[in-house]
Amino acid sequence: MAKIKFYAERCKGCGLCVLVCPHGNIRMSTELNETGHPYAVLVDPARCTHCALCGRMCPDMAIEIDDPKTSKKDKSGKPRE
Ligand code: SF4
Ligand code: SF4
Repeated sequence: MAKIKFYAERCKGCGLCVLVCPHGNIRMSTELNETGHPYAVLVDPARCTHCALCGRMCPDMAIEIDDPKTSKKDKSGKPRE
């Protein structure tokens, strides 16, 4: 199962990920991060299809999607040679 993680402190609040998510599954926070920006929040992890569009769109590398099918780690979590 793929995992998705949003790094609030890297987010500049541009909102591109909100626009691109085909499921409307990302919203902006009502609070600000330490750099003074609203940050992107995943609404419902169960509705995320891990399409990775948001991660590709983000100019600040604030969204990480770890897909075991394409990961360079083996099942034990160790990096492959
Ligand atoms: S991976 Fe796809 S479905 Fe999941 S939050 Fe990002 S854009 Fe939306
Ligand atoms: S695209 Fe990146 S920087 Fe822009 S709101 Fe989304 S997570 Fe934040």
